[in-house]
Amino acid sequence: MSTIFSKIIAGELPADIVYQDDLVTAFRDIHPQAPTHILIVPNKEIATVNDITTNDEAIAGRMLHVAKKLAQQEGIASDGYRLIINCNDHGGQEVYHLHLHLIGGRPLGRMLP
Ligand code: AMP
Repeated sequence: MSTIFSKIIAGELPADIVYQDDLVTAFRDIHPQAPTHILIVPNKEIATVNDITTNDEAIAGRMLHVAKKLAQQEGIASDGYRLIINCNDHGGQEVYHLHLHLIGGRPLGRMLP
């Protein structure tokens, strides 16, 4: 069974896609926590950070590089932003398809309350 993010990547579910290439797709979070809130997702289904293998290193690197490029595109690079990957229950992960949150556009405060 494919994940909700796989369905977005395949064009089967609507989303505001801002970037797509051979390895990753990025789209705006449906419940944004800041003016910019984009999810950068591998096209291939990887459930969590725990499931990344040596073969996925290009994907993991691409996720970071795309985050940098999108931050520039969104105009938040110089003010700053936050990148988050939640993993499993204690990390607060809700969707079990690896994703990198790019969040910015306002001061975000300290990392943890
Ligand atoms: P996480 O807690 O790291 O698993 O975050 C999952 C994120 O996916 C949340 O911020 C949700 O708002 C977001 N999300 C869930 N469904 C969708 C969707 N259909 N389109 C865009 N973002 C979504």
